[in-house]
Amino acid sequence: MSANAVDTAFIRRAVELADLNAVRVTLYMHTHDPEIAALPKAIELTDDQRELLISKATAWLEANAATERPAEPDEAELRELMNLATKEEMGDLEFTARRELPAFKDFPLMIEWDGDKPAIPEDFMIVVVGSGFSGLATGVQLSNLGLPYTILERRPEPGGTWSVNRYPDIRVDTISITYEFAFEKDYRWTEYFGRGPEVRSYLEGVSKKFGPYDNTKFGCEVTKATFDAERDKWIVEYDSPDGPQTIEANFVINGVGTFANPKFPQFEGQESFEGEILHPARWPDGVDFTGKRVAVIGNGSTGVQLLAPVAEEAQHVDVFQRTPQWISPRDKYGAPMEPETLWLLDNFPGYWNWWRYMAIAGLFGTHGFIVPDEEWVKQGGKWNPMNDQLRADLTAYIKAQVDGDEELIEQLTPDYAPFSRRPVVDNGWYKALTRDNVDLVTSPIARFTPKGIETTDGEVHEVDVVITATGFEVMKYLWPADYLGKDGTSIHDFWSKDGPRAYISMMVPKFPNMFMLYGPNSQPLSGGTGLPVWYVIWAAYAARCITRALAEGKTRVEVKEGPYERYNEALDIEASKLLLLQEEGAPEENYYINEFGRMQVNAPWYGPEYHRMCTEVEWDDLEIS
Ligand code: NAP
Repeated sequence: MSANAVDTAFIRRAVELADLNAVRVTLYMHTHDPEIAALPKAIELTDDQRELLISKATAWLEANAATERPAEPDEAELRELMNLATKEEMGDLEFTARRELPAFKDFPLMIEWDGDKPAIPEDFMIVVVGSGFSGLATGVQLSNLGLPYTILERRPEPGGTWSVNRYPDIRVDTISITYEFAFEKDYRWTEYFGRGPEVRSYLEGVSKKFGPYDNTKFGCEVTKATFDAERDKWIVEYDSPDGPQTIEANFVINGVGTFANPKFPQFEGQESFEGEILHPARWPDGVDFTGKRVAVIGNGSTGVQLLAPVAEEAQHVDVFQRTPQWISPRDKYGAPMEPETLWLLDNFPGYWNWWRYMAIAGLFGTHGFIVPDEEWVKQGGKWNPMNDQLRADLTAYIKAQVDGDEELIEQLTPDYAPFSRRPVVDNGWYKALTRDNVDLVTSPIARFTPKGIETTDGEVHEVDVVITATGFEVMKYLWPADYLGKDGTSIHDFWSKDGPRAYISMMVPKFPNMFMLYGPNSQPLSGGTGLPVWYVIWAAYAARCITRALAEGKTRVEVKEGPYERYNEALDIEASKLLLLQEEGAPEENYYINEFGRMQVNAPWYGPEYHRMCTEVEWDDLEIS
């Protein structure tokens, strides 16, 4: 919709619906109006101040609405605007970590050749495993550098876990403006939280628009890769539609992700069950629950997301909860993007950038939830003031959702602190539990019987369908493929002592020329940004190493054992201080913690510090030969 096609009332509505912090900064960026700079954060605006902002923005847009992209402000101005956005002064470390978040550059955080591009050996090849978010970020980075690569993707389309998971109501549970690539500036989501099919088509669009698609072999699943130390090459074996194949690679970049392989539970008597068992990651087309009695096992993000639509259709649903979760609402979850908002994104230059920045800024303070406060605990607090406040808010939310039903409140309220596990977003889960056709079952599952599920209290819950929303094999990185390093060691043997580890989540000694994205201890816990930002950061890290080796005519990049050990020792110490490994965080019930009691999924570092580690390569820690 062009600027001429809209009237003042439409523009005003667009501004009213917008993130007013982002409006304030965008308007200031264009006008340098001191009255706008002086306004407080949106939440603190008085009615008069709000009106001032809205009317000034509306007037500016009436005169100046335009579809071109704004140029990046210079460094000093950018910092001023970022401070203005959050109304907080940043330190240098934080500024460095956040300066690309407003994403004015075409390809924020990606690298370019430092000087002239060197001659690339004729048979040079990089193999990227997986075509989900991280494989695509890698592909775009390599396309931009003009390096030859092949993505091996086992699915028939890009999307990774978004291709695999097709259960009812699947959608992103972080607002889509933070869960998209910063280099694709033109995509407009139809809902604030994009649904699964839209995420799939978005990723396919990215793959086609920016290069990866033409470099992808679909239907190809890597089974084994062996490092040939004589030639510094990986021999990558994979199953393809034409049978087993082999490809040689100078470097392998793994984008197989954490949620690649579903966890299929094995209950006693499961094979005797006469009904159907469905896993959300193996969802068949055309499932119809009308007239069916259904069991849903699991209340993680998946089980919580799918219950409401299943309950609306089914005759009856039993929800099997092993551990209560902290489940929170999200503003605009399920809401469509209004035409006014879409117009604003296209016609208010810089609004997309600053909305994105402000949406991510909500995550900057999350480290505060997991750091200990011993004084607070001594005074009777549970963990720290911020965490205890969240706990109180979420407890009140449970009570309100189940209309004060004491029994349900008792069953649903966790006895551990929020933020120790991955936050779960409510998709009408609590409300669904109050339906007449839904029962919450908290007695542990004893076994399956031919007709249903028997719990340890002896009750048999007769059902026609069981949905096992039981999660993923997050502890098994790179599995079921095997990687044999330079001395023939299997990566899984290398990791057998206490689970997968890596150097800054990406590199493993003895496994040269191999990088992992979203590898062990990679998921930022705090002070952070959305994951798509990190996929690009990790892809750029691999690219920094590869381009340096090429520029120097070297063929091998490997992390040294000492730095790998030291990094992991420091990581374990840092992790041990945080909520996740303390009693209050219930580590034994957390998929972030592995069977050896180690925190394996997350990076324990303060976000900006971890950003520094992943963007400034410590070359002395690496051997380039
Ligand atoms: P999950 O968080 O691991 O949850 C698995 C659930 O199954 C838990 O409630 C678990 O209980 C239960 N469970 C597992 N094995 C069981 C058994 N043998 N008996 C009884 N209960 C059992 O898995 P998920 O829900 O698939 O989510 C995984 C991650 O995927 C999320 O944390 C999130 O990062 C991502 N995800 C994202 C979205 C999104 O963005 N929209 C949606 C879905 C998933 P316990 O708690 O007792 O272990």
